[in-house]
Amino acid sequence: MGVRATCLNCMDGRVQLPVLHWIKENYRVDFVDVITEAGMDGVLSNQDNITEILRSIAISVDVNKSTRLFVVGHYDCRGNSVEESVHRQQIRHAVSRLKGYWSGHEIVGLWVNKSWAVEVVLQELA
Ligand SMILES: [Zn+2]
Repeated sequence: MGVRATCLNCMDGRVQLPVLHWIKENYRVDFVDVITEAGMDGVLSNQDNITEILRSIAISVDVNKSTRLFVVGHYDCRGNSVEESVHRQQIRHAVSRLKGYWSGHEIVGLWVNKSWAVEVVLQELA
C-alpha cells in the first residue's frame, strides 16, 4: 500500500509543491494525503467545529494507514492574515490539539517562509 503521510495545508496553490517536495525529501513517504482549508493553521487553532477535517484525517489514518501528520502555515496567507509570530503560535496550538486525537502519531508543524522554503516549527514524536 505504500507509506502514507497526512498534510493539513492551506488551499493556496503556492504552498502545495514546496511542502510536498519537502516532505518527500525528508521522510520516506510514498503518498501524501492532503487536506486543505483557507488558512488551515488558523482553522485548526481557532475554530470550535473541525468535525469535517477530523473526518478526513480519520480516513487518512484509519483506512490509508498514515503514520505521520503535518500542519502547515505560510507567509502571505490570505485566508489567515496574521503576523508570522501568531501563525507559529497557531501551528503549535493546532499540533497539540491534533495530538489529543492522535497521540500515537508523529505530528510536525511546518512554516513556509517568504522564500517558499519550509521550516520546522515543532515536532511531536509518536
Ligand atoms: Zn494560506
